[in-house]
Amino acid sequence: MKFSTEELIIGIKSGNKRLIAKAITLVESKKAEHRLQAEELLKEIMPFTGNAIRVGITGVPGAGKSTFIESFGKLAISEGKKVAVLAIDPSSAINKGSILGDKTRMEELAKEENAFIRPSPSSGFLGGVANTTFETMMICEAAGYDYILIETVGVGQSEVLVADITDVFLFIKIIGGGDELQGIKRGIMEMVDVVFINKVDDTNLQKAKNTRLELKRALDFIPSKEKNWKVPVLLGSALENKGLMDIYDKLNEFINLKKHSQRFEIVRTQQAEKRFEYWVQAYILAQMKRSGDLEESYLQHKKNASSLVSNPSTEAKLFVDLFLRKNL
Ligand code: GDP
Repeated sequence: MKFSTEELIIGIKSGNKRLIAKAITLVESKKAEHRLQAEELLKEIMPFTGNAIRVGITGVPGAGKSTFIESFGKLAISEGKKVAVLAIDPSSAINKGSILGDKTRMEELAKEENAFIRPSPSSGFLGGVANTTFETMMICEAAGYDYILIETVGVGQSEVLVADITDVFLFIKIIGGGDELQGIKRGIMEMVDVVFINKVDDTNLQKAKNTRLELKRALDFIPSKEKNWKVPVLLGSALENKGLMDIYDKLNEFINLKKHSQRFEIVRTQQAEKRFEYWVQAYILAQMKRSGDLEESYLQHKKNASSLVSNPSTEAKLFVDLFLRKNL
C-alpha cells in the first residue's frame, strides 16, 4: 500500500473519495501485511464510526433496487444527508465484472458530491464478503456518511449476512405474486422491516393494492422482529419519484422506535459478537494454514473429509487436535 495509515485516516476524515476508496481496497485485501495495516486503520477510525443509519436493501434482479437507491439517495442528499452505497453487481458472480464498468447503474447519484458508491467484492467466501462490507461501512461512517445503503440480490444467503450488519431491512417488491418462483421465501419476510412495492402507476394501482393486501396477510402470520412495529407495505415508483418520502419517513420512524426501546444498541452489540466469532475462526484458520509443517496434514484431512467416507467434523477435530499439540 502506497499510503501510510495516517495519510489514509486524514483522507477518510476529510472525505477524500480517492483515499476512502484506497482504504476500502486495503480492508478488502487478503494479503497478511495489508490485513495488519487494515487492523491499525480500523482501530484508529473506530471512535468516529457508529453514527450512520445502516440500511439493507433486497429484491429480485429487476425489482428496481438501483433505481430506488438512485432516487432515495438523491432525496436524502436534498435533506442535507450524505449517502454511501455498497452495491452488489449482479453480473459479478458470473463474469467478475464490476459495477463501476456498468455506467447505467446509479449514474446520476454517482455524480453527487455527497454520495459515494462502491461495489461489494464479488469473490471469496460469502461471510468474508459481508465482514469486509462491514469494514467498508466503518470507513464510510468515519468519512461522515449519514446513510449507508447496502444492496443485496434477493436470492440465497446474502440477505442474512446483510441483515447481520444493518439496522433496518427494506424489501423492494414488484406487483403480483410468484415470489416463490423469484426466490423470495418466508425467510426474507421474517427479516424485513419495511416493504416497498415498486413500479406502481395509474394503470396498475388496483393490482398493487391487491398485492399489498396479500403481503399484509402473509406478514400477519410472521412474528414481528420489533415490538410495536407492524411492517408497513408502501406503494410507489422509484423511477417517477413517487412514495420515496414515505419510505424515508418510515425508515427513520423505525430507527427512532428501535433507539427508544434500546433495541438499536442491543442488536448492534449482538451483531458485533457474531463478527468477533467470525474473525476468531478466520484468524485461527489462517494461522493453521500458515504453519508450514501442518499444511500437508491439513490437506490430507481435507481430502479424507471430501472423500465422503470420513465425517468432516471428525477430520476437522483430528486436525485441530494435531495443531494444538504442536503449538501448546
Ligand atoms: P435492480 O436489478 O433491482 O437493480 O433493478 P433496476 O433498478 O435496474 O430496474 C430494472 C428496470 O426496471 C429498469 O429498466 C428500470 O428503469 C425499471 N424501473 C425501476 N423502477 C421503476 C418504476 O418505478 N417504474 C417503472 N415503470 N420502471 C421502473
